[in-house]
Amino acid sequence: MSKQHVNGKVYLVGAGPGDPGLLTLRAAQLLASADAVVYDRLIHPEMLKHARSRARLLFVGKEGGGESVRQEEINALLITQARLGRSVVRLKGGDPFVFGRGGEEALALEEAGIAYEVVPGVSSGVAAPAAAGIPVTHRGVSGSVTFATGHRAGKAPDWAHLAGAETLVLFMAGGKLEEATLALIAAGRAPSTPAAIVEAGTWEHQRVLEASLVDIAARAREASVGSPALLVVGEVVSLRSQLRSLVESRPVVSEREQFLKAEAGHE
Ligand code: SAH
Repeated sequence: MSKQHVNGKVYLVGAGPGDPGLLTLRAAQLLASADAVVYDRLIHPEMLKHARSRARLLFVGKEGGGESVRQEEINALLITQARLGRSVVRLKGGDPFVFGRGGEEALALEEAGIAYEVVPGVSSGVAAPAAAGIPVTHRGVSGSVTFATGHRAGKAPDWAHLAGAETLVLFMAGGKLEEATLALIAAGRAPSTPAAIVEAGTWEHQRVLEASLVDIAARAREASVGSPALLVVGEVVSLRSQLRSLVESRPVVSEREQFLKAEAGHE
């Protein structure tokens, strides 16, 4: 046997929007064989049950208002773990390349000469509106959707551009909702445009608020909307009222767990 050192590999894996049932098969398989799992705050605890009992579970998210681990430290951690010869799953909320800084992690791995792979995930940008009964495109209503972030490193969002979007899905809008909605209206979007906030889409505690663009920020404040949440703006939001059975029948995780237990009982 050669004693030559072999680096491990890092998998940048999308975990989906929250509901553990929306993890991909590939993600579950990789979790089941990983030596280390590096995960953050938007990961449902149920998902970690796919990991082997002796896998190292490394949390790098923000907890109780504390500081999150800096991106450079996460990059360094991934590289160190891989250099120990480990198979590392970097589990990220939604899709790794949609506002998740997965691109930065991939660049760091590329530069360090570490083998890596990207496993796409179901992005909350599509899944959270869907779970709230909002199709992000709909024939005759909206033929395009724009995904944007309310936070941009050192730069204000291009509100004039975003105000012209047919459907706008705004990530990380939480703290800046008032500013975002006022900016969209100032840039020409009608104050009466239907809007919705989806908080914790697909999680057990999902909440949806619907109001016109001019009122949605106040509604969110009254309801103490927290994180994670998305703002959806556009006529497609009105379709919710016609998709009542979808909106009301959404299975919650606890129900599925009971279903799985019942299934297991049949074996
Ligand atoms: N890569 C992720 C996004 C990471 S940025 C993805 O593809 O979904 C984090 C932001 O995503 C949050 O601030 C929030 O705006 C949004 N988000 C993530 N999960 C969400 C969920 N379950 N419901 C609503 N918004 C969510």
